[in-house]
Amino acid sequence: MHQWTSTTGKTLRLEEGDITQVEADAIVNAANSRLAGGAGVDGAIHKAAGGSVMAELDGIRAKIGKCEPGEAVVTGAGKLKARYIFHAVGPVYRGGEEGEPDELASCYRECLQLAAERSLKTVAFPAISTGIYGYPMGEAAEIAIREIRHFLNQPSSVEEVRMVLFGKESLHAFEHALA
Ligand code: ADP
Repeated sequence: MHQWTSTTGKTLRLEEGDITQVEADAIVNAANSRLAGGAGVDGAIHKAAGGSVMAELDGIRAKIGKCEPGEAVVTGAGKLKARYIFHAVGPVYRGGEEGEPDELASCYRECLQLAAERSLKTVAFPAISTGIYGYPMGEAAEIAIREIRHFLNQPSSVEEVRMVLFGKESLHAFEHALA
């Protein structure tokens, strides 16, 4: 199963792909606390978006210092086919009993809330924390899907959430969780 529709007609769609190529009102970045860019999806997003995004993050960093796990900050999307980038800081996985599930859930909730506050219709997420931060894909998928479904069952501007998964293995883990 790769699509789910809420009782109110909103959809969650799973797809394999590269999030830098996605057209959406907002795309989510799996950032780090220093908002400093890095490897993985973070590096790919900065590279594709161009320098304006890091320049904005420099300004945010100067104001707030760092961004804690479970939180997110907003920038424009530079050259990407989106209006905003939500930079969410996922937890580093340390076994799953030190608050990581709540922090990961909070990333999804915060970003969906940011989208609703801006009256956005479409949001695309990568599988936050499942790369360098080591979150097991299956567990991360369960959390992501639970939070997105819960959100889409409530009234908001958001009509479609896309999970853009990098590779068949992550796609299958999310399909399994959705089923
Ligand atoms: P984290 O540090 O939060 O674990 P990573 O970027 O290392 O972040 O990985 C998060 C997920 O994003 C991984 O599942 C990884 O395979 C995936 N990913 C990497 N590049 C892209 C991309 N261009 N589009 C979508 N997902 C990507």
